[in-house]
Amino acid sequence: MKIAFIGLGNMGGPMALNLHKAGHDVGAFDLSKPACDKLAADGVRISTDAGDCVANVDVVISMLPASAHVEALYLGQGGQPGLLPQLPAGTLVIDCSTIAAATSRKVADAARAQGVAFIDAPVSGGTGGAIAGTLTFMVGGDAADLERARPVLEKMGANIFHAGAVGAGQTAKICNNMLLGILMAGTSEAIALGVANGLDAKVLSEIMRRSSGGNWALEKYNPWPGVMEAAPASRQYAGGFGTDLMLKDLGLAQENAMAVKAATPLGGLARNLYASHSLAGHGALDFSSIVFAVQKPKKTAG
Ligand code: NAD
Repeated sequence: MKIAFIGLGNMGGPMALNLHKAGHDVGAFDLSKPACDKLAADGVRISTDAGDCVANVDVVISMLPASAHVEALYLGQGGQPGLLPQLPAGTLVIDCSTIAAATSRKVADAARAQGVAFIDAPVSGGTGGAIAGTLTFMVGGDAADLERARPVLEKMGANIFHAGAVGAGQTAKICNNMLLGILMAGTSEAIALGVANGLDAKVLSEIMRRSSGGNWALEKYNPWPGVMEAAPASRQYAGGFGTDLMLKDLGLAQENAMAVKAATPLGGLARNLYASHSLAGHGALDFSSIVFAVQKPKKTAG
């Protein structure tokens, strides 16, 4: 299968590499040269631009930051045409970015009008899951289009769920990430409380992991430095899932909640916590750095 992969960041890079390793003919593109260079070093073919990348492919996959990037890529912006008119009828587009469900539906409608199939397939599992090929895909779209995508998705993930029609994958994803944002803040708070009382962060984390407070952050993504060697907290919160991306997802959850008059008090609080954290200059750090909001500041010399 010939695949175009657009967006080679923390998630897209390892996902594209897994498709390449599985023997697919992958052409990849990102606006960032370092992101392209990294994949080129692993033997993946890099295209000169997005248009070149999608020439004669069966499947286009995108993994971009937010709604505006996806809309601009496929539908165009500022008088520049998007990619859709270049895709022949029968092409399958799989957008794995986390974006507004309404944007997924808008792009899907435009795609359908020219015979191109579109599914939204946002993911969960973090950069660790992207590297290991164990992501969870939450798919919105026609069942037949999901079946076409399945052999490709299986090379990047371990769980594939059909959430419903186009946009339903995005709705499932923001419900999940609203919960993730809340539980990372809550986990940080609980560890900070224990440490302020003289407990060892590692010992307390293990106690809670095996108790009723156990959760994904304690299992795989501990926010306290030094507790988990592979977690972003143990490498100055570099890489991983950016605070600004979490803030975007919590904003999407709030927009969605307003549209359907849902009550999301903790989701609203979490959005404000991450917004303050971003305003304090931490937007590019991994979202588990939200622990700064509850950590005792380190003593400075003098
Ligand atoms: P990232 O910022 O690391 O990567 C995004 C990449 O897209 C960048 O390299 C950027 O240069 C590129 N890009 C932007 N516009 C482009 C365009 N028009 N053409 C080509 N490349 C373009 O982000 P990420 O962490 O890889 O996340 C990507 C998406 O996946 C986001 O929607 C995010 O919310 C979601 N997500 C991230 C994680 C995670 O743990 N990082 C987990 C699940 C979902």
